Amino acid sequence: MHPLADAFGRRFPYLRLSIIPACNFRCTYCLPNGYKADPKAAGPLRLDEITRLLTGFQHLGMHKLRITGGEPSLRRDLTDIIATAAAVPGVERIAMTTNGVLLTRRLNEWMDAGLGAINVSMDSLDRACFARITGHDRLDSILQGIDLALARGLPSVKINAVLMRDVNDQQLPAWLDYLRDHAVGVRFIELMQTGDNLDFFRRHHVRAASVMAHLLDSGWRERPRRADAGPARELVHPDYAGHIGIIAPYAKDFCAGCNRLRVTATGDLRLCLFGDFGIPLRHLLQDDADQEALVRAIGGQIGRKEKGHFLHQGHTGITPHLASTGG
Ligand code: SAM
Ligand code: SF4
Repeated sequence: MHPLADAFGRRFPYLRLSIIPACNFRCTYCLPNGYKADPKAAGPLRLDEITRLLTGFQHLGMHKLRITGGEPSLRRDLTDIIATAAAVPGVERIAMTTNGVLLTRRLNEWMDAGLGAINVSMDSLDRACFARITGHDRLDSILQGIDLALARGLPSVKINAVLMRDVNDQQLPAWLDYLRDHAVGVRFIELMQTGDNLDFFRRHHVRAASVMAHLLDSGWRERPRRADAGPARELVHPDYAGHIGIIAPYAKDFCAGCNRLRVTATGDLRLCLFGDFGIPLRHLLQDDADQEALVRAIGGQIGRKEKGHFLHQGHTGITPHLASTGG
């Protein structure tokens, strides 16, 4: 194994793989008009291509995989994808980010196949607010799915909530009530600008610093960061079963701890969510004999990874919305 490291000494044990660009939700900040298929676009990677891709990344030190999209649960062969990933030697944790609509129906089979962690996107605990954000009145069934994951003992259950000014940024009390007896991590994520959402971003971006300050004032304490920690700052409180993570991509040094690479649903390597280019890998996923070339191709690109994103300058790279890249 030759673990990857970039010019800034960062290592990349973590791969985020999008397995489908399509989604059944219409989140206001992501796909406000719903997913529109491009009839000319190639289909998503097949299972055999995914297997070769993961084996290649594993040779480069990847040991944590996150399956994302679009909405990954729309893939009919999702359980097979999880099982395939679980069979790649060295892959220690398989996580998935999902809107949660299929959790109550499918979680058991995903866990049996090897799923070890979920992040469920749920921007509000208020039913009407949730429906306005996502276009779907499905909050109750998603909450049930989270309860099922906890009851089944899934090792990691997290909720992603994107903070939006005048939409859900005044709902901290409801989250605190929920966290008192739910052993989940809620991650408040600052809204990010993407190619398609500039007007929305200007209206609704709010810094997470005020939430952080409020929590620290109320007795929450920051947990010491592990060496392999991702970008979230984690807070805990002895009176609460759950914990809170703050993800603030506009904060200074946010990219210094970057530990992830991404691959799009059609097999393009992305060095950064907001980078200017993708590196096609699909042609190297057609034959087991190309494994060495695949590993060389990935390793050869890592020096091109920038020190940080250019979101402060309003530069969002080639990402029209996060569903396209795998958020
Ligand atoms: N459909 C799945 C879901 O929503 O969990 C997976 C894909 S979604 C693109 C992944 C995560 O990105 C979600 O938690 C979503 O809330 C977040 N996201 C999407 N667009 C975003 C934006 N502009 N700023 C911050 N987070 C965003
Ligand atoms: Fe779909 Fe996830 Fe984007 Fe919402 S955030 S529209 S669920 S891909």
